Amino acid sequence: MSDCMFCRIVARESPADIEYEDDAVVAFRDIYPKAPIHVLIVPKRHIASVAELAPADAELMGRCLLAARAIGEAKGLGERGYRISINTGPEGGQVVYHVHFHFTAGRRTAAPR
Ligand code: AMP
Ligand code: ZN
Repeated sequence: MSDCMFCRIVARESPADIEYEDDAVVAFRDIYPKAPIHVLIVPKRHIASVAELAPADAELMGRCLLAARAIGEAKGLGERGYRISINTGPEGGQVVYHVHFHFTAGRRTAAPR
């Protein structure tokens, strides 16, 4: 079993409320939501953080953004909008070291804190 919580969710070894999945990406509800809608979008392949990204990871990061668009459309948020953010490193507020996009929506100031 992986040491990484999000790798365990990807492998279905830990439970999560999965909202979206394709061949490269999984998205699931944040267990401590900071907005009325709070989904975490993760690449299936483990990358620790934006600070560890390599050029070869560019397409996978783009796939995460396309997943965000699909989630926004599925939730009818295309017009109202949503926020996508990535905490990076200790002073960037990153706690889980498997890169993830916070997708938050449902109020005007939808920034995760
Ligand atoms: P970050 O501070 O950007 O690393 O965000 C980590 C996020 O993961 C936080 O918003 C946590 O609430 C969330 N989180 C941690 N463990 C889990 C889990 N097992 N399932 C869902 N969300 C989680
Ligand atoms: Zn991982």
